[in-house]
Amino acid sequence: MVGCTRQSDCPLFERFVVSGSANIWRLLYCDKEEKFKTCARYEAGINGRTVPVNLLPNGQLLRSMRLGADDVC
Ligand code: SF4
Repeated sequence: MVGCTRQSDCPLFERFVVSGSANIWRLLYCDKEEKFKTCARYEAGINGRTVPVNLLPNGQLLRSMRLGADDVC
């Protein structure tokens, strides 16, 4: 298997795809076999926890992201 199995349900992944600078997260985590399992979003999701939309793969919260009512995955 190659890449994160949660890509289709991850709102940040969509943003990574369309953003030039944020695409680095995709390269470092989302598309890397085994590495995606260390993503904070992935770990929270598979453990049934609510995943804030602004939670970055490294566990830090992105402060500048606008949040809406549906911004959890
Ligand atoms: S950000 Fe994390 S959960 Fe989302 S697609 Fe990338 S590796 Fe998967």
